[in-house]
Amino acid sequence: MGHAVMTHTPNQATEIHLDRLPSSIQDAFDALMDQADKAAEHRDFTAYALLHKQAGHLIGIHRPASGELARCTCQNCYCTRVFDANKARCYMDGQIEFVQCETCADEHRLTGDE
Ligand SMILES: [Zn+2]
Ligand SMILES: [Zn+2]
Repeated sequence: MGHAVMTHTPNQATEIHLDRLPSSIQDAFDALMDQADKAAEHRDFTAYALLHKQAGHLIGIHRPASGELARCTCQNCYCTRVFDANKARCYMDGQIEFVQCETCADEHRLTGDE
């Protein structure tokens, strides 16, 4: 009987629950995403893309197809998913934009008109 060969497979996760990561990683991730938001405000999209890439590396998300990450800010549950921004479903509650991940949008879609 031979031993099973350990194959080195890269982490192919496309979404991560932020609350399952160590708080130091969560803080570092938040800091990167905040920097990315500031870069976007200054229309520095090179920095924005780079910061999202770093944030993805940090939490082990395989580079999303859109190159951009989104955080689920669903008000209906305590979902902390981070995922490909391509799959984000946004809604407005008053003046504030919230984001739902695919799972939340399927299970309890919000429109802001509730
Ligand atoms: Zn969600
Ligand atoms: Zn939800």
